[in-house]
Amino acid sequence: MTILRVALDVPVPTLFDYRSEDATRADIGYRVLVPFGKKRLVGVIWDVATKSKVPDSRLRPIEKILRDVTPFPREWLALVEFCSGYYHGPLGEVVAAALPPRLRTARTVPISPRDYVLTPTGKDALAATPSRHRRLRALLSRLAQGRASESELDAHARGARSLLERGIETGWIAPIEPERSEPRFVHAHELTSEQRQAIGILRGGLEKFQVSLLFGVTGSGKTEIYLQVIAEVLARRKQVLILVPEIALTPALEAAFRDRFPGACIVTQTSAMAELERVRGWLLAHNGRADIVLGTRLAVFTPLARLGLVVVDEEQDASFKQREGVRYSARDLAITRAHIAGAPVVLCSATPSLESFQHATSGKYVLVPLTRRAIDRAALPAIRLIDTRVHPPQEGISPPLLEALAARLARGEQSLVFLNRRGYAPALACPACGWVKGCRRCSANMVVHLAVQRLRCHHCGLAEGIPRACPECGNPDLQAFGRGTQRIELVLGEKFPRARILRVDSDAVRARNRLEELLERAAHADILVGTQILAKGHHFERLTLAAVLNADSGLFSSDYRASERTFAQLQQVAGRAGRANLPGEVLIQTRYPEHPLYQSLVRHDYAGFAKSVLAQRREAGFPPFVFEAALRAESHDELRAQRFLRSAIDQSPHRSASIAVFDPVPMSLARLAGVERAQVLVQSRSRPRLQAFLREWSDSLYRTRAHGVRWHLDVDPMEF
Ligand code: ADP
Ligand code: ZN
Ligand code: ZN
Repeated sequence: MTILRVALDVPVPTLFDYRSEDATRADIGYRVLVPFGKKRLVGVIWDVATKSKVPDSRLRPIEKILRDVTPFPREWLALVEFCSGYYHGPLGEVVAAALPPRLRTARTVPISPRDYVLTPTGKDALAATPSRHRRLRALLSRLAQGRASESELDAHARGARSLLERGIETGWIAPIEPERSEPRFVHAHELTSEQRQAIGILRGGLEKFQVSLLFGVTGSGKTEIYLQVIAEVLARRKQVLILVPEIALTPALEAAFRDRFPGACIVTQTSAMAELERVRGWLLAHNGRADIVLGTRLAVFTPLARLGLVVVDEEQDASFKQREGVRYSARDLAITRAHIAGAPVVLCSATPSLESFQHATSGKYVLVPLTRRAIDRAALPAIRLIDTRVHPPQEGISPPLLEALAARLARGEQSLVFLNRRGYAPALACPACGWVKGCRRCSANMVVHLAVQRLRCHHCGLAEGIPRACPECGNPDLQAFGRGTQRIELVLGEKFPRARILRVDSDAVRARNRLEELLERAAHADILVGTQILAKGHHFERLTLAAVLNADSGLFSSDYRASERTFAQLQQVAGRAGRANLPGEVLIQTRYPEHPLYQSLVRHDYAGFAKSVLAQRREAGFPPFVFEAALRAESHDELRAQRFLRSAIDQSPHRSASIAVFDPVPMSLARLAGVERAQVLVQSRSRPRLQAFLREWSDSLYRTRAHGVRWHLDVDPMEF
């Protein structure tokens, strides 16, 4: 009898044994449908054995092996296994996180890697299609230029699938077998000498595992450099994986890739995609047809048999860390992945994470620095600090900033006012008795959203009407304290009644549905008021002033990573100013202009800042000089969570002095959506010892029953 050991999406750290009549080792890596209790589940065959610890009488037969998708390759299994081992999550849960939703079901996947062409009647139809049928016209005119795949067409007309089906019915469009086209590369710029040097270094290391850090200011042409390196990898007939932080950035970047790599099969992978589109792209990669896979953190699990290069753009970005389920870091897994494949990794950033920066300066990574902007005329913007003790703001805006905004308006240039807080005001309070409106489900204040006359909790989404009077003392004069984007938008509207002012934050995106649409309008605005949505990756030709209103809030946080994040964010905002022909200026309102963070920022000296912070971290024993993990407990009852953590500490493995286990503490947001959260931090200077400790500890935790408590381990945690 053959025993199949199957990874199933069940919160137990074990494989599940099943009987099979005819399976062999060649079936490892196939999906399989099995009975599980009263349900049927799809898992992945991880191993084939002849004996099982489960008694014969209790072994159930598999239902069937799903052979519509070829088995996942060894390298993929190895990556998933590493992820499960390092982050201490059950293998089956990692498998589930790594597969597109469709492959977690037994439904067959219609893979039709077909191309489409325009028929002669289709050509006539195009001429006759009125322009109000925008999507149809976009689709037909793309086809008029030549054959295209569905995903290419989707980039021109959203939801191309249904249009295609109708087009085939009417005989305007015909499907054809795709030709395996040669990816070409379109050169766009004369490279600067710095860029040529960087490309030389990166091309020199293409045939082996190696981590490089491409470290250059915004606009120094990092994207251009990795495009060139990718061209070389494609010419060697290998595949490229590119990870980017934001879903919002993928359509724009995808379009740029299609322009620069005509003929290449480019696949995107994000959580926002429709199920079929996602699985089709995934299978194109798996079957070896895709040349380039572009996606957010989950794309790190796309199988690529000919992987030749991994690029992680904005590698410091917090979104690479998964915050639910198995809490993996896609950046770190990308490195493991490249290691398994024997391929190089390029990490890109203007403000690298201190971990990566440390590795680059210590020689573990190859440091590839860029010091100048790629376009001669685009000098780095001048960064100036406005001391708000000297120039007190009115309604959040200081007189020098008002003048600077007025000057831009007079010259017909664009300004960006950045603040990291959406809504009208971050708190509603009673000035008579001191009452503040808190969220009843979270340990946080509710935010005033005047535009929709609601109070909202930004943590759990709870919304309520705005009370007319203080519930404590009856005072009808409740006040909105502090400022969010909506309030600043109104203030600026009063100061500059003739200016076109546009707010860009996630509320505006939701109201208008599409970020792209909003960004299109943004190009014509005089003043943009925005949150970090605007700070990343968008180019505005006329934007010459970037102003930051509330940067100080990041200076004195209890989270030791806050200063690193603040610097990165400010630098990103600064990077929006003066990208093309016009010189840029950045104004930062602060009460602490002498703070070292600002002083380094003004000098555009991230390296200097990073070195000084690293020295402090070394001194204080923080990452990257120690390694951390957190055991978290969540419960409706705070005491239960605490009790669970205490007993977890009591049952932790015997440990040497090399492992430090701290007392349980509430998380900084102690209550979230009615759930109390607490954690125990574990530190060690040795990663292998920490891992050995966690392995033993989690084994014993999985064996104990935790009543009314959910727990998880977070290795290399980013939130506290
Ligand atoms: P980064 O990724 O470092 O922010 P990008 O690669 O996006 O920089 O380049 C910034 C801008 O400069 C882009 O508009 C890009 O097209 C342009 N650019 C890059 N390299 C060159 C070059 N060698 N000559 C002219 N323009 C360039
Ligand atoms: Zn009151
Ligand atoms: Zn809440």
